[in-house]
Amino acid sequence: MKVIVLGSGIIGTASAWFLHKAGHEVTVLERATGAAQETSFANGCQISVSHAEPWANPSAPLKVLKWLGQEDAPLLYRFRAEWLQWKWGMHFLRECTPSRTTHNIRQIVAIAEYSRQTLQALRAETGIEYDHLTRGILHFYTDEREFEASLPAARLMRELGCPRESIGAEDVVRIEPALAAMRDKIVGGDFTATDESGDVYKFTSGLAKKAEDAGVAFRYNTTVTRLLHEGSGADAKVTGVEIIDDQGRHQVLHADAFVMAAGSFSVPLLQPLGIDLLIYPGKGYSATYRVTDPEAAPSVSLTDDGYKLVISRLGDRLRVAGTCELNGYTRELNPTRCAAITRRTRELFPDACDYESPAYWAGLRPLTPSNVPYIGKTRYRNLYLNTGHGTLGWTMGAGAGRAIADIVSGREPDVDFAFTGMPQRKTSSPQVTQPA
Ligand SMILES: Cc1cc2nc3c(=O)[nH]c(=O)nc-3n(C[C@H](O)[C@H](O)[C@H](O)COP(=O)(O)OP(=O)(O)OC[C@H]3O[C@@H](n4cnc5c(N)ncnc54)[C@H](O)[C@@H]3O)c2cc1C
Repeated sequence: MKVIVLGSGIIGTASAWFLHKAGHEVTVLERATGAAQETSFANGCQISVSHAEPWANPSAPLKVLKWLGQEDAPLLYRFRAEWLQWKWGMHFLRECTPSRTTHNIRQIVAIAEYSRQTLQALRAETGIEYDHLTRGILHFYTDEREFEASLPAARLMRELGCPRESIGAEDVVRIEPALAAMRDKIVGGDFTATDESGDVYKFTSGLAKKAEDAGVAFRYNTTVTRLLHEGSGADAKVTGVEIIDDQGRHQVLHADAFVMAAGSFSVPLLQPLGIDLLIYPGKGYSATYRVTDPEAAPSVSLTDDGYKLVISRLGDRLRVAGTCELNGYTRELNPTRCAAITRRTRELFPDACDYESPAYWAGLRPLTPSNVPYIGKTRYRNLYLNTGHGTLGWTMGAGAGRAIADIVSGREPDVDFAFTGMPQRKTSSPQVTQPA
């Protein structure tokens, strides 16, 4: 079959790779100059199966209220006169009950674990070099109550098969000696030895190159403006995509199947077809520092619970990422937020990096209220979704790509997950609002 994939972040690129492997003729349409130029460019770089707790959890509503209007808050909801944002917020609240949270964690762990295994196999097969480390993820706490609150989550992860061990402060510093200066402030942590980290941009662009060499057509500088469709009910299908190509010309491209992997921008592309995805852009920041003293910089990937920052060592660079602002599609950098990241990183590792010339970046996480992505079918029989991977798109990316290739090929994916628009195995699907 001829398959068109829309978007070449980690999700679209992994989808294209596995679709090609399944024997399809694949074209990827991407408006940027290359793969992984948007949200998959400079994220936190953690493959974090064991930290699958969604932001929507029982403690979230109070925290979000407390943080309202606080410029450097980890999660900042800026109210806008925008229906999607309000609707998203209402659904977010609904996902905060204990039972929904547990349900969502199960979903996320299932696809994330499958994805990590897929990524490991892909790494062995392709030999892509992406500064990856398999030294685990260490989450440390500086607030006693937050540490206490993390214990049930760690227990649930263990029940789900993730070896996330709750540990004391001494063990935190033993696992990552670069945290020694913080010893007195750390109250505990949890460590998952099987988690990983690595540069999502290097991996995605490397995979795109390998896929291109294998015969996938990547059309960069190509903006999709509209999906064309015909028929209704069971006969509804997408017939083509309207694009503006790299020469500025309008064209229509046809294919047998279409995979939507445009991250946050999947929403406006699908709305005219009556598919209302609950995805809202969650702007996050990162700072990348040059490591000047390798011994003083961490080499285990870290999560700083108090500041909601993740920290990954990428060769001779240190990537620190976090914070979320729900404020439309802007990627503007807020200097207060940038300065807060550098202040905290310098406090943690004063001698590790050059803090005078950080590379700041902002990207839009395609957030569903539950953080469970849409992977699967739509009511258009040849239109598929692989979008809404929120805070964990790098963690879920390889597996989501492999699963959608199975679905497009008419096979059942090898993972028990609530695929959109498909019969359930054990769990229920994220909500897609479509006209009757
Ligand atoms: C600060 C931050 C830290 C993060 N840290 C982590 C982490 O540690 N671990 C983790 O697992 N995840 C992390 N994430 C989340 C992860 O980065 C995202 O979930 C993931 O990158 C989403 O990938 P994607 O392919 O869906 O979207 P994108 O990478 O945004 O790709 C979508 C592509 O579609 C293209 N596109 C959009 N519209 C059109 C159009 N009309 N025509 C043509 N092309 C179009 C875009 O140009 C883009 O390249 C983080 C995110 C942020 C912002």
